[in-house]
Amino acid sequence: MSMNRTGTVRRAAVIGSGVMGAGIAAHLANAGMRVLLLDVVPQTLLPEEEKRGLTLASPQVRSRHSQAAIGRMVKAQPAPLYEPSFAARITAGNLEDHLTALSEVDWIVEAVVERLDVKRSLFEKVESVWKPGTLVTSNTSGLSVAEMVEGRSEAFRQHFAVTHFFNPPRYMKLVEVVPTADTDPAVTALLAALCEERLGKGVVVAKDTPNFIANRIGTYGMLVTLEEVLRYGLTVEEADALTGPAMGRPKTATFRMLDLVGLDTLLHVVDNVRDKSSDPAERETFARPPLLEQLVAAGRLGEKSGGGFYRKI
Ligand code: NAD
Repeated sequence: MSMNRTGTVRRAAVIGSGVMGAGIAAHLANAGMRVLLLDVVPQTLLPEEEKRGLTLASPQVRSRHSQAAIGRMVKAQPAPLYEPSFAARITAGNLEDHLTALSEVDWIVEAVVERLDVKRSLFEKVESVWKPGTLVTSNTSGLSVAEMVEGRSEAFRQHFAVTHFFNPPRYMKLVEVVPTADTDPAVTALLAALCEERLGKGVVVAKDTPNFIANRIGTYGMLVTLEEVLRYGLTVEEADALTGPAMGRPKTATFRMLDLVGLDTLLHVVDNVRDKSSDPAERETFARPPLLEQLVAAGRLGEKSGGGFYRKI
């Protein structure tokens, strides 16, 4: 296989325009790439859309998720090297209408919901238009990399790996690159170089184990903190004061971080380690905290839904 050098990766597609997809798209645009940002087609109208006389076929409705993502990116506080005008490099839309455009990009980044079944069927769809040479990566927090592309062609699997960005992607330095046994070593090397040289990240190549390295430790830390907070009757603010500024993490104290990550996403990540473990003690450690389940059931997913532990201002 002839591999492009990092400079020739000019066009990217990001599938999933949620918390991470929007941030990754902004970061790639910031690095000079043209980006297609795609999401699913909404199945129901919002009350305000109904009032405006829109239908499910209206372009505004069909690309609702992606338009909202662009809004979030532009409003976000500018980071060093970030220009709001770079949003013009991003074209937003829905996957259904833009599927064939995936054959024209150099790199496809998947950032949809953390569920193996959803990601597996998405990669099946992507493969139907994929052209050899195009890199394909997943932003999964720790699902089995090999299982995501089981059943795909050998050529597709050779071009596939995980590029796990952290939240928020513009600020967080780390990217875990996780190849499978089938990933072409040249692809792993290219992805690492791309993330380091073009995107300014620090790369760790990790093994395909549940939650890789950073989330295995980070998720455990969040669960233990939550348990201790409940045991000692601390308030969310007290816990964040102790795990935030006092530790040099003003913006990433435990509960602020949980709201930023998304409580539903955290539950998926916790489920993944538990479901893959045969060690009873570990399965107990990674049990779903009932408090998180209650908040998610009440629609309090974190910042993306208007509030989680904190109310969104
Ligand atoms: P999110 O819930 O904010 O967004 C997911 C988006 O995917 C939604 O907009 C949804 O409409 C869309 N989607 C769902 N199914 C789709 C499909 N079949 N085709 C196209 N779009 C689809 O989730 P997120 O927090 O952005 O997480 C995305 C991925 O990144 C997950 O794998 C997650 O584990 C991983 N991740 C999340 C964080 C974090 O802090 N939230 C950090 C690192 C990695």
